[in-house]
Amino acid sequence: MNRFDYVKPATVAEAIAAAAAPGAAYLASGTNLLDLMKGNVVRPARLVDITGLKELTRIETSGNGDVRIGALVRNADLAYDASFAKDFPAVAEALLSGASAQLRNAATVGGNLLQRTRCAYFYDTASACNKRTAGSGCDARDGENSQHAVLGWSEACIATNPSDFCVPLTAFDAIVEIEGPAGRREVSLDALHLLPGRTPERETVLVPGEMIVAVRLPAAARAFAGHARYLKVRERNSYAFAVVSTAAGLVIENGSIREARLALGGVAAKPWRAREAETLLAGQAADARAFERAADAALRDAKPSGDNAYKIPLARQLIVRALQAAMQGTPARMPALPASPFSSVPGVLHDA
Ligand SMILES: Cc1cc2nc3c(=O)[nH]c(=O)nc-3n(C[C@H](O)[C@H](O)[C@H](O)COP(=O)(O)OP(=O)(O)OC[C@H]3O[C@@H](n4cnc5c(N)ncnc54)[C@H](O)[C@@H]3O)c2cc1C
Ligand code: SF4
Repeated sequence: MNRFDYVKPATVAEAIAAAAAPGAAYLASGTNLLDLMKGNVVRPARLVDITGLKELTRIETSGNGDVRIGALVRNADLAYDASFAKDFPAVAEALLSGASAQLRNAATVGGNLLQRTRCAYFYDTASACNKRTAGSGCDARDGENSQHAVLGWSEACIATNPSDFCVPLTAFDAIVEIEGPAGRREVSLDALHLLPGRTPERETVLVPGEMIVAVRLPAAARAFAGHARYLKVRERNSYAFAVVSTAAGLVIENGSIREARLALGGVAAKPWRAREAETLLAGQAADARAFERAADAALRDAKPSGDNAYKIPLARQLIVRALQAAMQGTPARMPALPASPFSSVPGVLHDA
C-alpha cells in the first residue's frame, strides 16, 4: 500500500477544499476503497474521510414529498427506515439483498453508488485492465468472463456495475446531488454512470473533487409502492453480487398497466433502465404476454461478451418473474430472503 495523507474535515466545504489536492479520494466506510488500496489497485495520495459530516446522515422529506437521503446514511439504516421501506419497497428490498448484514451496517449510500466493478482482472494488478490502467488491454475479453456484461459493453471493457441499490434508484428516477469545486449540481442516477466506450477508466460523470452529498427519490415514485419488487439471481442467497437482477414497478388500474418502471442489474457497466419495455407495458393488460414482450424489448440489443450468453435468457426470465411479482402486489413485510426469486415461501417473513 502507498503512503497517503489522511484528513478528516468537519464541513462539506472543507472536504471539497481538501479533495482538490491531486490524487485525493473521499473515504466513507471504506468497505470497497480500503480493499482496493490494500491490493494496490488504487493508490490515492490523500484520503478525505467524510464520516464526520453529520449533515450527510439524514433522511428527510421535503415540502413537495421528495425524499432526500444523505450520502452517509448507512445502507441498513435506510432499508430499515419503516416509512422509507413502505414508500419505496423495491429500494429497501435491493438494499437488503446486498452484501452481508455487517457490510450493510457500515456501507453508505454514496459509497454504494460509487463502488467499483467486481471484475476479477480489475482487482488483480498482474492482469491487463483498461479500467485500472488506460490503454493496457482487457484480460477479461479472453479470460473468465461468465459474469460480464451483455449490454452496452465495448471491446475496451466488458465489466458490470455491481450495485443492487442503483437498480431501483434508476428505475424510479432518483436524482444525485453533487457538490464540488465548481459548486452544486444534480444529475439523474441514470446519467451518473458511463458506458465504457473507449474510455472505461472514466466510470461516472463526476469530475475530480466532486462529492455526492445526497440522493433524492421523487414523490411520484410512491405511486409504484403497491406493486414494486426487486429480484436478484446470485450464486448464493446471501453475501453474493447479482448475476442478473431486476427492479420492476407497476401502477395498475382495472387490471391494466397505467405506468411501468423496469431496470436491470448485473448486465452492463451501469444500472440498465429498460425504457422501451416500460413504454410497451403502458396501457396493456397486466398479463404474461405483455411481460414477455417487455422482456424481449429490454434485451433486444443484448449480446454475449464471452461465456455469458446464458445471462440473456436468464435476464428475460427474471424480468417476467419480477413483473409478475410486482403485479401480485408488494408483500406487506420484507421476504426473509430479500430479492430472491425463491423467497415467496409462506411463513418466512420478517418485518422490514
Ligand atoms: C464481500 C462484499 C460483498 C458485497 N456484496 C454486495 C452486493 O451484493 N451488492 C451490492 O450492491 N454491494 C455489495 N458490496 C459492496 C458494498 O455495498 C460497497 O462496498 C459499499 O456500498 C461501499 O460503501 P462505503 O461507504 O464503504 O464506500 P467506500 O469504500 O468508502 O467508497 C467507495 C467509493 O466511493 C467513493 N465515495 C464514497 N462516498 C463518496 C461520496 N459521498 N462522494 C464521492 N465519492 C464517494 C470512494 O472514494 C470510493 O471510490 C459488497 C462488498 C463486499 C466487501
Ligand atoms: S472487463 Fe473492464 S474491468 Fe475487467 S479487465 Fe477488462 S477493462 Fe478491466
